[in-house]
Amino acid sequence: MHLDEDLRLSILEKSGVFSARLSIQEPKVLMTSKEVLEMPKEMTMGRRTTAYKYYGVSYMQHNLIFINVKKIPHEKALDDTIAHELVHQRFPYLSHGRRFNKLVRQVLKGKTFAPYRKRKS
Ligand SMILES: [Zn+2]
Repeated sequence: MHLDEDLRLSILEKSGVFSARLSIQEPKVLMTSKEVLEMPKEMTMGRRTTAYKYYGVSYMQHNLIFINVKKIPHEKALDDTIAHELVHQRFPYLSHGRRFNKLVRQVLKGKTFAPYRKRKS
């Protein structure tokens, strides 16, 4: 998709809406590979020069996501990617799979979730 100011705003809006559903603090959203490379190295470590290969990346320790707008073909994939990266932020212990995909669908449909709390040990 072509990133212009309107799309940029719409992505921030969606990120805000989905973050509210997930009860997470709205992350900073990077939208170009250039923006990823401009971030401090310690924030994007491990997914820095390879970020362009993916639709999205979640930098979970830093409340930061990358939405690779240029690579994303259409709005449906865009919404999926934003929800996907935000589910990583809310469920940091969960890896990809059926449960993960179900959560993404629920976020897209408007389900709300309680804030993440670390379990007491
Ligand atoms: Zn993922």
